[in-house]
Amino acid sequence: MPDLVPLDCERCGACCRAQPPFGGGVFVRLGAADLARLTPDEAARLVVAAPGGGRALPLATDAAGQRVCAALRGDLGRSVTCAIYPRRPDACRGLERGSDECRLAREEAGLV
Ligand code: SF4
Ligand code: SF4
Repeated sequence: MPDLVPLDCERCGACCRAQPPFGGGVFVRLGAADLARLTPDEAARLVVAAPGGGRALPLATDAAGQRVCAALRGDLGRSVTCAIYPRRPDACRGLERGSDECRLAREEAGLV
């Protein structure tokens, strides 16, 4: 079956979307290197305390009512960007476009 939304991260954003259960409203847990990479302003605006300790990027609700990373901008499946892309967490850097994880996220978001 052809992709409904091309395998293009600037149009997709499915891996920045959360599936329930939402784990206390936290999406990406941040390690020391992740935190050190963020600017002070980004850290102040985006980082929250994670349940059970540590820091994380929280979830937000987008215009379509979907639960997405608080750093995601735009509309899923149309045009998206990461507000901290050059300084995004290691977990995001490790998710490869076209990988099984990518394809599962797209499937769960209804983009394939
Ligand atoms: S890595 Fe895959 S799921 Fe994530 S934005 Fe890119 S195409 Fe979409
Ligand atoms: S930090 Fe950026 S790349 Fe990572 S989940 Fe959030 S919006 Fe997506």
